[in-house]
Amino acid sequence: MTSRHSLTARTLRLAIIRIGLVSICAGVVSYLVNLSSIEASVRAQLLLSTEQTIQRESLPFREIRDLERNFLDDFDALYADPVQRAALARDFDWLFVRHPDGSYTQRPGIFEGQPLPDGRRFPGMSATYAPETPPTEDVKTRFVLSFVLSYKYGSVTKSRLFNVYGPVPEKGFPIHQAADIAKVFTYGGADALRLETYEFHARGFAANAREPFMTRMYFDHSNQAWMTTFATPDTPDASGRHRILVCVDVLLDDLMRRLARPAIEGAYSTLFLADGAGTLMFHPEHMQAIKESDGRASIRSLGLASEARLLPASAGLAPGQVILVDTPEEVVAVGHVPETPAILAIHYPRALMRPAILQNLAVVVAVGLLTLLVEIVILRDILTFQVARPLEQLIQATRLLGATADKQLEAKDLPTGSRDEIGDLARAFAGMAEQVQSARLELESKVLERTLELEAANHKLAAMSTTDGLTGIANRRRFDEALAEEWRRVMRSGDYLTLAMVDVDWFKKYNDRYGHQSGDECLRQVAGVLESAARRAGDFVARYGGEEFALIACGTTPDCSPGLAHAIRAAVEQLQLPHAGSPFLVITVSIGVACQVPMADQTPDSLLQEADAALYRAKAEGRNRVVVLG
Ligand code: GH3
Ligand code: MG
Ligand code: MG
Repeated sequence: MTSRHSLTARTLRLAIIRIGLVSICAGVVSYLVNLSSIEASVRAQLLLSTEQTIQRESLPFREIRDLERNFLDDFDALYADPVQRAALARDFDWLFVRHPDGSYTQRPGIFEGQPLPDGRRFPGMSATYAPETPPTEDVKTRFVLSFVLSYKYGSVTKSRLFNVYGPVPEKGFPIHQAADIAKVFTYGGADALRLETYEFHARGFAANAREPFMTRMYFDHSNQAWMTTFATPDTPDASGRHRILVCVDVLLDDLMRRLARPAIEGAYSTLFLADGAGTLMFHPEHMQAIKESDGRASIRSLGLASEARLLPASAGLAPGQVILVDTPEEVVAVGHVPETPAILAIHYPRALMRPAILQNLAVVVAVGLLTLLVEIVILRDILTFQVARPLEQLIQATRLLGATADKQLEAKDLPTGSRDEIGDLARAFAGMAEQVQSARLELESKVLERTLELEAANHKLAAMSTTDGLTGIANRRRFDEALAEEWRRVMRSGDYLTLAMVDVDWFKKYNDRYGHQSGDECLRQVAGVLESAARRAGDFVARYGGEEFALIACGTTPDCSPGLAHAIRAAVEQLQLPHAGSPFLVITVSIGVACQVPMADQTPDSLLQEADAALYRAKAEGRNRVVVLG
């Protein structure tokens, strides 16, 4: 039984180990393949979606740049026309009133939409103007021009762009917006509008300013919104002086909302300026720090180690270009938003790839386990029905063959019907079993024959033997010969021949009480006594049969050797072999003695009969005695 189980179990164990190894290898390969394919697809997706995002987010900035360009073109065209210039200088007095401190604001009612004397209206427009020196004709012309153009562009883009304004370097600030700036700021006292402290002013009127730029982000408390100013300087004259600057204030809240939810599930975005320090515009975790620092917080100042890796990569990016940066925890797509100095980074945490990879791995392992299960079932069936059971049948048949000689193996005892190697083995076994069986039968009949022959030989041998097997003295056969020989010899010499028959008393009882083994031992001792008594030449002792012994002696006188008989009887008694069943309590013998001179017309039988009769009398007279006749 164990062999069947161990064969099946061992094979199944091997199958489990094999498929386990295959599953592990397949899992590892699948993990690596998946890792690389998932990562490749993530990278491609990141690149594409970041490219699309920065192009889309650059659109409003492109519109603003175009608007500012047009503004400046209009400005240049009108400013170059002497007729227009004269009319604009005149408009200055219609539009503005001078205050005692030397500053100007637009006349009351203009913001509310009251018409000028020629009927033009500028609703929503307001302006403050604080020249350090009294305005020249040129300054007046430029200021009115900026007022008119700010109204023109500001009023048409009102619903989409926050503020449009075109300040002049002489601290003139006309603006189209919802609130009347003249009521908020003055050019003196605590509420002074210090234009020169604004970033757009400093950068836009710098001597080398040429290109459009975007200011650092700032939090507009009156609107509770993040804003930046997008400005385009005009071309400065030979001395480096600017005549005007166009600005648009941009609300960043929408942009931030879009950035907070990138197209790729699980990714997040950051936005910072390509200014070396990485001044932050949007970072989902650091908006508070940005706000508190008034838009100055940067990747460097906040010590953001993982974002710091993006700075060198973003430094050389062309507008619209996107590259991938690998950090230990993330794959980051870094792109330069066209028309702006802003760098958009879309961060994809690597941990997000793991569930997909593990899912694929789980599928591979599940398929492996299913295969294992199917293989185990198939293998178990094959092993049990086609190998183990036929083998067990063979084992049983072998045992049967070894155990019994007469049982013939039948067809049903062996799997000879199987058409495979085990079937071949079974058929070979059946042939061998048949041969073994017939060889054994032949052997058995030969053994029987030999045994019978041997028994016959033993009988013959026993018949030829002259010694008694139990006592070692002469046997009955030898006695008969010896008596006949002595009879003839003594007949010639004319001497006397004595025959004594010795019989153990109550011997049946002795056997019954002490057992046959003890009986045998007793007979050996009595025989020993007889042998040592018959020492004279011509004396002869033999076991006559059973518990009876015979003694032959010869002599020249008719004394019948009673001395020897008495000595034997006494010596036996002297053995002191306990015999509780005898009145003498020890083993004793009765002896009948006969004595004759052999005659020619007589046979030894007469002497035997006489000795027997003497023994009969000894028994009859009470046993343990010698009776002599003759
Ligand atoms: P008695 O005094 O009249 O001779 O009585 P007995 O019992 O000796 O005589 P009986 O002839 O009734 O019994 C003889 C017994 O001797 C019977 C038999 O079992 C036993 N005997 C004969 N041959 C052997 C032998 O070789 N070995 C043993 N142990 N017993 C034997
Ligand atoms: Mg007897
Ligand atoms: Mg007896």
